[in-house]
Amino acid sequence: MSILQIENLTKIYGKGETAVKALDNVSFSVKKGEFVVIIGPSGSGKSTLLHLLGGVDRPTSGKVLVDNTDIYQLNETELAIFRRRQIGLIYQFYNLIPILTVEENITLPMLLDGHKVDQKQFNEMVDILGLKHRLTHLPNQLSGGQQQRVSIGRALINTPAIMLADEPTGNLDSKNTDEIMELLKMFNKTYNQTLIVITHDERIALQADRVIAIEDGKMTKDEVIRS
Ligand code: ADP
Ligand code: ADP
Repeated sequence: MSILQIENLTKIYGKGETAVKALDNVSFSVKKGEFVVIIGPSGSGKSTLLHLLGGVDRPTSGKVLVDNTDIYQLNETELAIFRRRQIGLIYQFYNLIPILTVEENITLPMLLDGHKVDQKQFNEMVDILGLKHRLTHLPNQLSGGQQQRVSIGRALINTPAIMLADEPTGNLDSKNTDEIMELLKMFNKTYNQTLIVITHDERIALQADRVIAIEDGKMTKDEVIRS
């Protein structure tokens, strides 16, 4: 069953002479629970693709269907709700809010949605993430690996169907890289959560079910490693 269908997706930034075609007619679909790695040179359109999959931006043309919902037919409010419920986003530089504690950073998407935090679920999650004794710390009191685990917690709090990660280990040493990937793969396998990761790290690409390569805005490779 496919959770994600991308149809003829094109993104052009700017207009006229300075226009940049960042994505050029990209189509593919992703099965529920699949772990997909996206590789490609810098500037090839990987982040643009990830943002369009996550409802963060709008395409110039083409469609993104998540669970058969055409997400760019939604209005801004509906799209924001879709993002918070269905998509977990993780970035290279964590994007935590510096003045909020670990607990506040993690629970923010739930509170924004007007939901009460399920304390049992929250406790279990921070335990798995190894953050139980860091809940009242501020982001700048944590290591890079810990900050990335906070951002994973924030992405997971609404139990999204799809986890999108843009170079999640790009700022981490190899030990922390392994820890972060083990966590992401654990949620992928245990909860059948679809996982899409942009990376330059070949070791990570080898762990995926499937590798998609993007060059110059076009899909140049789509290789299933294990199914
Ligand atoms: P990658 O993630 O593979 O490095 P990006 O998706 O970030 O590639 O960028 C693809 C192309 O689109 C690049 O040429 C980049 O300069 C351009 N681009 C990305 N974001 C914007 C933007 N907000 N405005 C204008 N051009 C952009
Ligand atoms: P805005 O209303 O400005 O579009 P959001 O309400 O989408 O912002 O998100 C507010 C904060 O919560 C941001 O810091 C954003 O990075 C974070 N956030 C929202 N949804 C998610 C998610 N699914 N995964 C990770 N972080 C999220």
